Amino acid sequence: MTFAIPFDNSYAALPPGFYSRLDPKPVAQPSLVAWNRPLADTLGIGEADDATLARVFSGSEVPSGAAPLAQLYAGHQFGQFNPQLGDGRAHLLGEVIGTDGVRRDIQLKGSGPTPYSRMGDGRAWLGPVLREYVVSEAMHALGIPTTRALAAVRTGEEVVREAPLPGAVLTRVARSHIRVGTFQIFAARQDIEALRALYDYTVDRHYPDVTDPADLLQRVIDRQAALVAQWMSVGFIHGVMNTDNCTLSGETIDYGPCAFMDDYHPDTVFSSIDRFGRYGFANQADIIVWNMAQLATSLLQLMPDPEASVEPFTRQVHAMPDVIRAEWEHRFAAKIGISTPRDGDATLVADLLTRMQANQADFTNTFRGLLTGTARDNFTDRAAFDEWEPRWRARIEEEPEPEAQMARSNPAFIPRNHRIEQMIEAATEGDDARFHRLNAVLARPYEDQPGAEDLTRAPLPAERVPATFC
Ligand code: AMP
Ligand code: MG
Ligand code: MG
Repeated sequence: MTFAIPFDNSYAALPPGFYSRLDPKPVAQPSLVAWNRPLADTLGIGEADDATLARVFSGSEVPSGAAPLAQLYAGHQFGQFNPQLGDGRAHLLGEVIGTDGVRRDIQLKGSGPTPYSRMGDGRAWLGPVLREYVVSEAMHALGIPTTRALAAVRTGEEVVREAPLPGAVLTRVARSHIRVGTFQIFAARQDIEALRALYDYTVDRHYPDVTDPADLLQRVIDRQAALVAQWMSVGFIHGVMNTDNCTLSGETIDYGPCAFMDDYHPDTVFSSIDRFGRYGFANQADIIVWNMAQLATSLLQLMPDPEASVEPFTRQVHAMPDVIRAEWEHRFAAKIGISTPRDGDATLVADLLTRMQANQADFTNTFRGLLTGTARDNFTDRAAFDEWEPRWRARIEEEPEPEAQMARSNPAFIPRNHRIEQMIEAATEGDDARFHRLNAVLARPYEDQPGAEDLTRAPLPAERVPATFC
């Protein structure tokens, strides 16, 4: 059976210094775990049997029209510049233009070593592959810009981490994989010609009406500010906001040790590798500004007189916290039923958050509970909520449709970390039922779903999973 993917590759036409062309490494025994049929339809990918899908989306068979390559990039990892990273375990198969007219990358992750693997084995294990599948699809359903998951395939091979674990390959779909780190590598090498080619490609693909590098910087700042505010509005903690994990498109990328917060606390950190909390919940708003400063530094080199552009570029970056604050206020005001925030509303939200923090209130259930009347049950001291409530009620009396606003801003379902962990444990034993159930429920996060109440529950003390590994 032949299987057609309508590839239309443009990144492979960039100069050879942008990537290494090489095929993925075939795996021992590919078996399909998940296939995202609705997404495949959007991409214009036709039908195929499971065995074909497993071969193609494990990298065991290169489909016709693909031009597999590993992309080159650099990046600041935990603030430390690494002059060369690149896809160490991923292969871009190519791009397709979907039925919606959007060009998207189709990339395999965990598909074998590349020239950029450094000490790594080029592989992924099933746990992080399924975590990325569930969480990225959940983010999409929440309405947050993100890469998507098209397929997950078991390889039938073992991957050695702390122990031998089942291997897997994820197929990720993205508007592109251009990162801040992609600009950084050519800027650091002072390869202005390559930097210019990357700039032209990025503008053409993502921001066709952009006029100059300062304009591009502003557009990315605006998208990233909106993105981080959206993350925070659902309690999401990315966990590795290195500049190589920060896209020019404004999509969330690279679901590693990410997690959603249960009890509200601004310092919450899950990632086992984030020892100092650099990428903790509330810090995300500062780190994204830092990342945009790195993009600004790279883009400066494209200006006719870089020296003279330092000051205006700096001003753009310094203005970003105000953009984030405005996005944050808009998102959090919506969560308490306010459509157009005005003076005093941010204080009302902040007061609620302070009380939630002092009372170990569950973030998701408290906000959802404003709609259903159960918010106060989340507070160890109910009086802390009761003091706040009348002021809030008085304020939303002036709102046209506070319930509708809250219903579309406060999900009932998020991919809670203990449920992800239980799902991974089961799948490691060969049982994928939890994985499929999570996907089905999380596809409709804003709807009450009878029979799925267990997935709205905060973890019991014994169920808590405070650290994520990947
Ligand atoms: P990340 O922290 O996931 O963004 O990864 C940082 C860099 O390490 C990227 O260049 C990855 O491709 C690379 N990398 C991560 N895991 C592996 C692995 N198992 N084998 C080879 N390269 C890897
Ligand atoms: Mg990465
Ligand atoms: Mg990663």
